[in-house]
Amino acid sequence: MADVRTRIAPAPSGSLHVGNARTALFNWLFARRRGGRFVLRVEDTDPSRARDEYVAGVMDVLRWLGLDWDEGPDLGGPHGPYRQSERFDRHRAAAERLLAAGAAYRCYCTAEDLEGRRKEALAAGRTPGYDGRCRALSQPARAGFEAEGRPAMVRFAVPDGETAFVDLVHGEARVEHTQIEDFAILRSNGLPLYTLAAAVDDLEMRITHVIRGDDLFAATPKQILLYRALGAGEVPVFGHVPLIVGADRRPLSKRHGDVSVEWYRDHGFLPEAMVNYLALLGWSPGDGVTERFTRDELVAAFDMAGVTRHPAAFDREKLTALNGEKIRALEDPDLAARVEPFLVSAGVLAGDPTGEQRAMLARAVPSIRERLARLDEAPAQLEFLFHDVSPDEKASAAIARAGTILGDGLAVLEAVASWEAEALQEALQDWADRAGIKRKDAFQPIRAAVTGRLVSPPLFESLELLGREVALARVRRAAP
Ligand code: GLU
Repeated sequence: MADVRTRIAPAPSGSLHVGNARTALFNWLFARRRGGRFVLRVEDTDPSRARDEYVAGVMDVLRWLGLDWDEGPDLGGPHGPYRQSERFDRHRAAAERLLAAGAAYRCYCTAEDLEGRRKEALAAGRTPGYDGRCRALSQPARAGFEAEGRPAMVRFAVPDGETAFVDLVHGEARVEHTQIEDFAILRSNGLPLYTLAAAVDDLEMRITHVIRGDDLFAATPKQILLYRALGAGEVPVFGHVPLIVGADRRPLSKRHGDVSVEWYRDHGFLPEAMVNYLALLGWSPGDGVTERFTRDELVAAFDMAGVTRHPAAFDREKLTALNGEKIRALEDPDLAARVEPFLVSAGVLAGDPTGEQRAMLARAVPSIRERLARLDEAPAQLEFLFHDVSPDEKASAAIARAGTILGDGLAVLEAVASWEAEALQEALQDWADRAGIKRKDAFQPIRAAVTGRLVSPPLFESLELLGREVALARVRRAAP
């Protein structure tokens, strides 16, 4: 077979759904593993729904995931253009060729005609579907409709027989053509339908492997028929990957919360966690094999043989736990760099942090690493280092409950000679134990005073990070 060429063909009518991202990943992995090429094609066949910002958004998200493409609308390539809306003349030309060869015909049925016959078929207990009426139209009838200026769509004339193909996931598949109606390929306004556009583009872009969701399985025999009718020597290999479902086993949709990759990016998920998790949705490396992968490890491990047939359940909690693991594995400077934009978007830092703020962040990240499942949890934990936070409700209550304990703690802190976490810990523990105060009761009001919250990074590290002056000033202010 020729060099492997795969593609992802998103319809840019919104932000990239995790299901499309998973399909993109499988195609990317498949191509990368085989030294092939991965093509991005934008399927904006419905221009009313496609917007430039969506195209840009889809590209951003793919880039963020690290799924780089070799040919696409931005890069160009030998088989462009890569936006379907710029290829309509090619789709029409293909339809004309099919018409000329007698493999397609014009259909003059109106929407009302079709609806009426659909109802009739249902009432008579027949499967509704196009009944082929215009295929058998006499020449004079056809000429009459043309003279009338009746709008006509173009339909493919499905031949007798069956289409068989070997699916990379499902194995051998056979579809009787009696199951396929004469499907439309061109609308009466001259715009192509998906079935034609995708087949023509896959053919012209020399796509060798079409990996896509099970929801498109029914399109495959039709597209194979189109390929053959268009004289393609070779038909791509198809692989239909399982759908992604929610906990209720229904296809993943808005009903299950936000399902766009953008949402995950903007809520502090790491691309490496996303890629690792998406890879496991419908693919398994095998029993007893680790499920923790870097992108490069996935390239080496991924194979269509490991793709399962049953739907894959998307579990946000599992993804979040994996995200926490990947966060813990980051080096400090890397973690600081990734947390920074979240501090900015939460308003904790201004757009362009100062050197001092950056240094503070670099010193602070080790103290929160273990407590982060998502990067967007960092601002709440670190805010006290950059702002003079006033205690929230729970923190205020803890301070009020503490009575004179806070004043005693202040005296202990003032006497600590070297302002370092270890020395602070020793002094405070020693005081609490000697005074017979439960450590938790002794430390909680101090934490509340300096961080403004009851949940914060470890107390002694927090005190050290904040520095003697600032920390003492906050405790003094809170102490009765
Ligand atoms: N544009 C289609 C979609 O977004 C993909 C079609 C295909 O992969 O053939 O679902």
